[in-house]
Amino acid sequence: MRIYCVANQKGGVGKTTTAVNLAAGLAQVGQRVLLVDLDPQGNATMGSGVDKRQLELSVYDVLLESAGIAEARQRSQSGGYDVLGANRDLAGAELELVGLERRNERLRTALAAVTADHDFAIIDCPPSLSLLTLNGLCSAHGVIVPMQCEYFALEGLSDLVNTVRQVHANLNRELKLIGLLRVMFDPRITLQQQVSEQLKSHFGDKVFDTVIPRNVRLAEAPSYGRPGLVFDPASRGAQAYLAFAREMVQRLQQGPA
Ligand code: ATP
Ligand code: MG
Repeated sequence: MRIYCVANQKGGVGKTTTAVNLAAGLAQVGQRVLLVDLDPQGNATMGSGVDKRQLELSVYDVLLESAGIAEARQRSQSGGYDVLGANRDLAGAELELVGLERRNERLRTALAAVTADHDFAIIDCPPSLSLLTLNGLCSAHGVIVPMQCEYFALEGLSDLVNTVRQVHANLNRELKLIGLLRVMFDPRITLQQQVSEQLKSHFGDKVFDTVIPRNVRLAEAPSYGRPGLVFDPASRGAQAYLAFAREMVQRLQQGPA
């Protein structure tokens, strides 16, 4: 099982949309996928058609080791993958974990028990560099960073890159920055083109080839409990996320990323 975190401490940059649609895209090309919602907002859970208010077990129970992933995961019927859901309970986990041992490694240990069940685990991180995000980073082989090509985007990026570097050095030798994904892209906006060029010159092949356009169908889909990729497969946003899923699989075949 390959494990990827979708992370960016900036809010509203398209993490959840990316995690949900990457999970759905990978499922569509025949992969067995587990989507882990690590955000107390529970948006990835709801966007997969799983009601966060009705979870009997969630990622909270998994982090506190009162349940395993095999019992707590649920099926996203619309997405064709499994979901380890989250809701507001998770907000309390942060404080409860602080006093516990192996607090960074709870998710990693839990994922190790289901490694034969899935080809991919995709982890949707909250908009912070918190203990929850740290659990994601300590579990993962790689980090996918969705970003909008705006002026301040590059600034926040260095904090995240440093965090990934530190986790790699101290906690998880397997962790790599897989790539930067340009999302909500509008090629008519000159500034976005400029920032996109800057990104490519700074980060080279760490910038994914696939670009996700701004597309309202992707924003409408969650209220129907469906990934955009399933809600309107013909839309430009859906097509782009399917291409991104294919790019991820391809990168993996070219050499473990
Ligand atoms: P948070 O930091 O709060 O977890 P996030 O980084 O997960 O946010 P999303 O929830 O995925 O970001 O996206 C923020 C908003 O932008 C949502 O309303 C979403 O529907 C919308 N959105 C995301 N990607 C696109 C896109 N490519 N085109 C249009 N709207 C988009
Ligand atoms: Mg989110």
